[in-house]
Amino acid sequence: MAHPTLAVPPLAETYDLAVVGGGINGVGIAADAAGRGLSVFLCEKDDLASHTSSASSKLIHGGLRYLEHMEFRLVREALAEREVLLRKAAHLVRPLRFVLPHRPHLRPAWMIRLGLFLYDHIGGRRTLAGSHGLKFAADSPLREDIRRGFEYSDCWVDDARLVVLNAMAARERGAHIHTRTRCLGARRSKGLWHLHLERQDGSRVSLRARALVNAAGPWVESFLKEDLRQQSRYGIRLVQGSHLIVPAMYQGDQAYILQNEDRRIVFVIPYMQHFSMIGTTDRDYHGDPGQVRISSEETQYLLSVVNAHFRQQLQASDVIASFSGVRPLCDDESGDPSAVTRDYTLDLSGTAESGLLLSVFGGKLTTYRRLAESALALLAPAFPGMRPAWTGKAALPGGEKGQSAAELTRILLARHPWLAPDLAARWAASYGCRAWELLDQRNSELALGEHFGGHLHACEVDYLCQQEWAMSAEDILWRRSKLGLFLDADQVASLESYLASRRHPRQRAAR
Ligand SMILES: Cc1cc2nc3c(=O)[nH]c(=O)nc-3n(C[C@H](O)[C@H](O)[C@H](O)COP(=O)(O)OP(=O)(O)OC[C@H]3O[C@@H](n4cnc5c(N)ncnc54)[C@H](O)[C@@H]3O)c2cc1C
Repeated sequence: MAHPTLAVPPLAETYDLAVVGGGINGVGIAADAAGRGLSVFLCEKDDLASHTSSASSKLIHGGLRYLEHMEFRLVREALAEREVLLRKAAHLVRPLRFVLPHRPHLRPAWMIRLGLFLYDHIGGRRTLAGSHGLKFAADSPLREDIRRGFEYSDCWVDDARLVVLNAMAARERGAHIHTRTRCLGARRSKGLWHLHLERQDGSRVSLRARALVNAAGPWVESFLKEDLRQQSRYGIRLVQGSHLIVPAMYQGDQAYILQNEDRRIVFVIPYMQHFSMIGTTDRDYHGDPGQVRISSEETQYLLSVVNAHFRQQLQASDVIASFSGVRPLCDDESGDPSAVTRDYTLDLSGTAESGLLLSVFGGKLTTYRRLAESALALLAPAFPGMRPAWTGKAALPGGEKGQSAAELTRILLARHPWLAPDLAARWAASYGCRAWELLDQRNSELALGEHFGGHLHACEVDYLCQQEWAMSAEDILWRRSKLGLFLDADQVASLESYLASRRHPRQRAAR
């Protein structure tokens, strides 16, 4: 069955809440508000998660390193969110063990043990395994002189998919989500915000909202000052972080957290079965956030930290792919970019009568749900009939049965033994129990439709266009999935031509 392209929802004239920004914070607030009974509109100028929220280290973590900066509030909240998010989306979020090689000249063992003790105990850990010390065996991938270390738990998530699932959760509760729609500006008049929007095709529309949320991420300050002509009580500090993808450096599911001489840490994380992801860097960024790219200094820095720890020595030519993002941090005037607080600040202005404006500064992927709850608590005076907080216990789309990706893969393969094991595993981890929607009575690989490479078939592309706002090959290959790592240029061209034929059905007949 061919799915049509996702219909753009009609615009209401007046919403309770308008959200600008389709990164994790915008969609998190939209979903929470829609579930409390508010009418919600969200616009994203590009694709969902097309900026910082797809360029993270993809960890749902307390942030062991933040303990050194005394960020106890943030660490406690983030640690507790690990188990909440594991329950909400067991298929998408998975536990990950971290190995921390001991380097006595950087941090003494007692300090690490104390940090791990706090990490194990301050966040109400229930299902995740605790920490312990380690002695490395002779077959360890680490250099021979690194003999001892520690091990602890955090979690991994596909960041861009977490955003899409929250956008779907918002839509399923009535929110109108418009991607490729830029908010050009908004003005207050007679107790309402009047928003002016521009779609990708150049058409312009207006709507009204009782409250406005500025979740523009790296653009939060410029949107506030230039597009809303409002003063900002807080400044934003843009800090670039980059990652490398290299062929898998070792066997096993564990990640490594490496301490560097500058006291920063670098992660090496298993990625898409065949790769290792290395990151990240921290450096002040002053350009256009939409144009951020990894520099050769960052590549050399990351390689040198890894080479100081692993037997395998990497060179720049080993790098298969890289990505960069800009952290929109609340400026606390720290000298060192890696020391700037990762906590979030919500700036509320106006009144329920004049039209509230709430701007989001900073935040972590991990704490998006709590950030959304705090945002809704601040907006509550404008919406006296609003229902209470609900997101802590509700599953995200696909997580309704609470099954892990491994359990779902087993079920998929048992019921559909003709599915390629790699495809079943990827669908289970991406779509959870909604993978059955993609199967839709199909009973052979041929029935999945045209194959573009990397087990990406037409039926999945159709589903992503219909259900997940995908429009371009890049949306599909780098955000809805990470299959861009597996497709060559001809295969990408073939996907692009299929997408064009979906938009122009006459071309489809000619294919
Ligand atoms: C290198 C790096 C590693 C990280 N690692 C982790 C990690 O492992 N774990 C973790 O918890 N956090 C991590 N983070 C932090 C996390 O990624 C961010 O806090 C989070 O993604 C920020 O989301 P956001 O919604 O605020 O911003 P964004 O994702 O950037 O979303 C803002 C959106 O607003 C849109 N927008 C802007 N202006 C307009 C407009 N006028 N109209 C319409 N749309 C507009 C933009 O296009 C953008 O998509 C990391 C960040 C970086 C950079």
